[in-house]
Amino acid sequence: MNKAHWHINILTLFPEMFPGSLGLSLSGKALEKGLWSYRTVNMRDFGLGVHKAVDDTPFGGGAGMVLRADVVEDALFSLPSQAQKNIYLSPRGKTLTQEKVIEFSKIPELTLLCGRYEGVDQRVLDAHNFEEISVGDYVLSGGEPAALVLMDACIRLLDGVMGNDQTPDEESFSHGLLEYPHYTKPANWVDSKGVKRDVPEILTSGHHKNIEKWRKEKSESLTKDVRPDLWEKYKDQ
Ligand code: SAM
Repeated sequence: MNKAHWHINILTLFPEMFPGSLGLSLSGKALEKGLWSYRTVNMRDFGLGVHKAVDDTPFGGGAGMVLRADVVEDALFSLPSQAQKNIYLSPRGKTLTQEKVIEFSKIPELTLLCGRYEGVDQRVLDAHNFEEISVGDYVLSGGEPAALVLMDACIRLLDGVMGNDQTPDEESFSHGLLEYPHYTKPANWVDSKGVKRDVPEILTSGHHKNIEKWRKEKSESLTKDVRPDLWEKYKDQ
């Protein structure tokens, strides 16, 4: 496969999980158009012995198994080229933010390491400068869904992926605030419980300045309520 402008290498024990949902919709069309490309490396291919073992017990004792440094390194070195950045998806990493997504979407080639079991031997992470990135404060059973999240968020920012009518600049997080609520037709709608739910009048007024003001106020009050941590940062800007 020829490399696109944004190329992702994925080190995984479950290559069949890719492209997964990224093969559909916006990202799927972008993949077809060659706006991004990916390559999976099955770390199992570099496993040891008849059983192709990729993991072993942790030094110091404790539950679970750890992915071996030598296996991960062999998988990494099997790539035709080394990426500008190596990322290990990990719950103890820095949280993936829109800022990070923008940064990663501008790096032409990334390698993503998907952990399993208890995680990965620290030495291979140190040896190859893996940046640890978490998709949230919870524990997944493997790094693959986290890799898909990171890729999805980046792909939609690549040139030519979103239509002209979709503007990443106005979305949640782009200015440190969550996005205002959206409404569409019908303007008057009665829900299944018989409650009349009209679209806020201002949105049908055609008064663009007032609409902008209303949206900003909504964004601010929503952020204050739902994400006080973001609000604290925003109001001090
Ligand atoms: N023992 C690890 C810990 O407590 O931090 C959890 C290991 S988890 C069961 C297995 C793999 O899932 C990790 O190596 C990592 O690649 C991935 N993973 C789990 N949660 C994640 C998260 N929130 N963000 C990114 N990757 C995650």
